[in-house]
Amino acid sequence: MAKHTVTFIPGDGIGPEVSDAAKRCVLATGVDIYFEEVHAGADILEKTGTLLPGSVLESIKKNKVAIKGPITTPVGSGFRSVNVALRKANDLYACVRPCKTYKGVQTKYDNIDLVIVRENTEDLYAGIEFELDKPETLDLISKIEAMSGAKIRKDSGISIKPISVTGTRRIVKYAFEYAIKHGRKKVTAVHKANIMKFSDGLFLSVAREVAKEYEGEVEFEDKIVDNMCMQLVQRPQNFDVLVLPNLYGDIISDLCAGLIGGLGVAPGANIGEEIALFEATHGSAPKYKGKNQMNPCAMIFSAVLMLDYLKEEKAAQLLEQATAEIIAEGKSVTYDFKSDRNDSSIVGTKEMADAIIERIKQLKSA
Ligand code: NAD
Repeated sequence: MAKHTVTFIPGDGIGPEVSDAAKRCVLATGVDIYFEEVHAGADILEKTGTLLPGSVLESIKKNKVAIKGPITTPVGSGFRSVNVALRKANDLYACVRPCKTYKGVQTKYDNIDLVIVRENTEDLYAGIEFELDKPETLDLISKIEAMSGAKIRKDSGISIKPISVTGTRRIVKYAFEYAIKHGRKKVTAVHKANIMKFSDGLFLSVAREVAKEYEGEVEFEDKIVDNMCMQLVQRPQNFDVLVLPNLYGDIISDLCAGLIGGLGVAPGANIGEEIALFEATHGSAPKYKGKNQMNPCAMIFSAVLMLDYLKEEKAAQLLEQATAEIIAEGKSVTYDFKSDRNDSSIVGTKEMADAIIERIKQLKSA
């Protein structure tokens, strides 16, 4: 039996291409790992009639660690999102997205090395919504008007934003513990507490309380989310670990992915008390499905995070170094690493992974 068994979900759209690249690169490091393949998403829907078969959840519960390619969320199907469902079912409360500039990436910035810690279970993402014209929506509107004295237009849809002391405490604690474990110096809490006093205000006051437990060890500051966006664009090097409620975390993650060269290089991890699921920040980019064009690095860097989580630090370091070197050399890279999209030296997803695997072999034998 292998030392590690992890659940492997290829995903749909470009998912299978980038996941396969990441899997082959992990295996090339020589780490003793078995990928237990199960399927979720659009491709399996046609065969089984469900986007998320029970076998996927069972496999994750058993193995405790999973790596997943992106999965399309069908528009208007009533099914919210397989990705959100997986996070909910396994209480994966912390979404961790390191954003780092690698030499050779097309970006205006250098020396960015920050980590986003996004709360994954609450906020406007909790999925508590009331649709336009439904009787319960009209009932809710009347109740809110009676309780608060506020006026709400009858032709409104309503989304609820719950932020709890429990949820905030555990995500902020996670951010501080992450900072200590990874030798980071500062945690910045991001919010809009000046306007949303009882949800974001609570987030900020709990964050301040938790920060006191780490005084002298890790610096703490807070920023209002709009100001945070401007400062990230102007001086991203000033930031270290950011901790945010769910929705701001979602938006700022893509902003930071843009700063470091785009979604093609932005990895992610969803962490719970017992279970962890690793996936790129990007989605399934369905129009590129099967074209062997997309950048595999976001999935490969997600696999680096997985190896680190499995305490296979040497393999993680080897995989990151090999990938960084191939990006820096700029010879065997996908189109998004090139300033000229018609550059004849551009390679496909598979070929970039092949080059990384070759570099892993060279580094191992050096
Ligand atoms: P997307 O991330 O799939 O694609 C947006 C654009 O980003 C693409 O057109 C492409 O230009 C670029 N891009 C994405 N991945 C890339 C890569 N590996 N290399 C180079 N460029 C890359 O976002 P979308 O189009 O908004 O979403 C498509 C589907 O994916 C939707 O159904 C959405 O719900 C789903 N989605 C899934 C996840 C997930 O599985 N965790 C995350 C986000 C979106």
